[in-house]
Amino acid sequence: MKQVITIPDLRVARAALPEPVGFVPTMGYLHEGHLSLARAARAECASVAASIFVNPAQFAPTEDLASYPRDVPRDLAMLEAEGVDLIWLPTPEVMYPQGYQTWVTVEEVTQLLEGRMRPTHFRGVATVVAKLFNAVQPQRAYFGQKDAQQAVVIRRMAQDLNFPIDIVVCPIWRERDGLAMSSRNVYLSPAERQAAVVLSRSLAVVQQAYQEGQREAEVLRKSASDLIQSEPLARLQYVSCADPETLEELQGPVAGRALVSLAVFFGRTRLIDNIVLGG
Ligand code: AMP
Repeated sequence: MKQVITIPDLRVARAALPEPVGFVPTMGYLHEGHLSLARAARAECASVAASIFVNPAQFAPTEDLASYPRDVPRDLAMLEAEGVDLIWLPTPEVMYPQGYQTWVTVEEVTQLLEGRMRPTHFRGVATVVAKLFNAVQPQRAYFGQKDAQQAVVIRRMAQDLNFPIDIVVCPIWRERDGLAMSSRNVYLSPAERQAAVVLSRSLAVVQQAYQEGQREAEVLRKSASDLIQSEPLARLQYVSCADPETLEELQGPVAGRALVSLAVFFGRTRLIDNIVLGG
């Protein structure tokens, strides 16, 4: 596995890769969810490139940039074991050198859900992913459904800016008890870790209600929020039942697919999860 840091080194190493190139952008501290993206890329592409970059631009000043978990040696061993060909580890100076002032703003789909709670987040995500795409020039790029809105934003950006890249969205990987894998799960205390299963349980309750014929968006939202509010360690930020493409909140009966997504705090740790109904 070739390791590079600078853009010139990346370009040389990328040029040597057989195509199609599959690309897996990450912030590191890898888990099985990340590896599932690398495996999908490995299965579908001649070469696999990955990146590890904790992108300062997508963290608000109040968020966890400084404490975001990092273990690059472990990540490298995991990626090597998955048969990744090229790993790019840019520094903040490589991505945002002195004088940097160009940003990518995706409009409507970044104003809702996560974007409403984290107003500068998707500007940072879209900008860094555009820069990663321009540098790596993959034919396919792999993202997780875990960050459902991020996948919508990246698809929109790739289409609007004419990136000739297929955006592939892979299913959510979960722990045995249902908790969606996340690098941030490491922040949870043992009691919070146990309580955090309420996210996936509440989504299962919504799915069950849907399967039993419940279609009222407000009733579906309430069935999730009631369960989360019954967990003393959980502080619910939002539950949404929205159109999976426009992300607009659904009112009245759900017809077709619906994205049910939520964000919950455990202490200072913020977790997200989602399911798609009717998918
Ligand atoms: P991150 O390192 O958190 O920025 O995530 C990098 C990529 O891995 C993103 O496309 C995420 O959506 C994806 N990802 C994170 N957690 C999971 C998971 N539990 N299952 C599937 N994909 C995931």
